[in-house]
Amino acid sequence: MKRSLISLFSLIAISALVFAGLSYYQPLLTETELSVAEDSLQVETVAYEPTLLYGLVVDNLQIFEQTVKPNQNLSEILSAYNVPTQMVYQIAKASKEVFDVRRILAHKKVTVLCANDSAQSVKAFVYEPSPLEYVVFDLSDSIKVYKQERPIEVKEKTIVGSIESSLWESMMDAGASPELFSVLHDVYAWQIDFFRIQKGDAFKVIYEDKIVEGQSVGVGRILAAEFSHMGNPYYAFYYNQGSGEDYFDEEGNSLRKAFLKAPLNYSRISSRFSYKRFHPVQKRYKAHLGTDYAAPVGTPIMSVGDGVIVEATFGKYNGNYVKVRHNSTYTTQYLHMSKIASGIKPGTKVRQGQVIGYVGKTGLASGPHLCFRFWKGGQQVDAMRVQIPPSEPIKEDHRTAYMGVMKVWMHRLQEVKNTGELPKNTVENPIVLIEKEESASPINRLMIP
Ligand SMILES: [Zn+2]
Repeated sequence: MKRSLISLFSLIAISALVFAGLSYYQPLLTETELSVAEDSLQVETVAYEPTLLYGLVVDNLQIFEQTVKPNQNLSEILSAYNVPTQMVYQIAKASKEVFDVRRILAHKKVTVLCANDSAQSVKAFVYEPSPLEYVVFDLSDSIKVYKQERPIEVKEKTIVGSIESSLWESMMDAGASPELFSVLHDVYAWQIDFFRIQKGDAFKVIYEDKIVEGQSVGVGRILAAEFSHMGNPYYAFYYNQGSGEDYFDEEGNSLRKAFLKAPLNYSRISSRFSYKRFHPVQKRYKAHLGTDYAAPVGTPIMSVGDGVIVEATFGKYNGNYVKVRHNSTYTTQYLHMSKIASGIKPGTKVRQGQVIGYVGKTGLASGPHLCFRFWKGGQQVDAMRVQIPPSEPIKEDHRTAYMGVMKVWMHRLQEVKNTGELPKNTVENPIVLIEKEESASPINRLMIP
């Protein structure tokens, strides 16, 4: 054992000597070789340390930084540096596969590197489409264009607040970004209507902040959240049990709810969602933004999800119809009913599967059918194609792991003091490095005690 260690050490020493020897005779060293040589033998090396910018050596160059002006194209940007139009054309051509120069946008950063002589010819320029990446146009030899991505650090952040007027204002006051509001809204879409929040509601959110070169560039995942709504705490914990990202409550129930596959027991789908179909009654092409289910008159129609009735009335074209708002994202509508179920009127709360009416052919309909319409975020979408995330609870083989993870986060949430009054709302910034963006979500593993 000892002997092999010794021989290992001598091997390293010999390699280091060989390395040092090589270093001595090769003045052009890469940085890594230099540092290896310095570390192992502490030889005093007169190191030439080039100044790098975007990975380019800029020691003998002049650096001009600017932002793209509105409606300024590449030709205009470069003409200020005496780059001829023909050259711009060649640059655009060479860049085609990597970056379309027509997509250069106003207010983005451009850095131009010019020779430090009287001609000041452009050696390279760099365009930054986003803080995450930049495109290098190297003109020093032949034209080389390449895109570089900056490494993203993910740091954990906590935000706390209570609602004085609206959730939006409270979150912005506490230093959150609109993006965080939107991510949190998605997490709680089925539990809390973010646009009907009450004064006195409060939130604590632990989330990932994406950092590039010290600047926050976006929101990653929400890791854990507590939302006190009308005196009840609603918890959300991130966990991936193999079926993708999902959020669960303290008991392991999914925060998402699925819709029924169809609102009735139907015999066939007589017409699908289409932007152009031949209308059987009007005898002309028009959009059909719904799914038609053929079924006998009187077939019960069910609400596809929990919600509140927003319309239950008669219309010339829709006939007897009912509209259900499920949450601030999803709304569904049921047309041509022979009869609206009793008790179904605006404001009525309905459960998933509850009968809200019966199939008929009232309004503009050629035969008995249900026309089912689906809204997502205010847009009419094809209910047959809309992707509703899964809503299974934590599986049995994941339960122990999940509960472990959940308890750690629950404890963390309880440690976050709810500051109550608005001026005291703060963004805590513990700057705990969780992981690099590139790696697959190790959070489940990481947090198991
Ligand atoms: Zn229809």
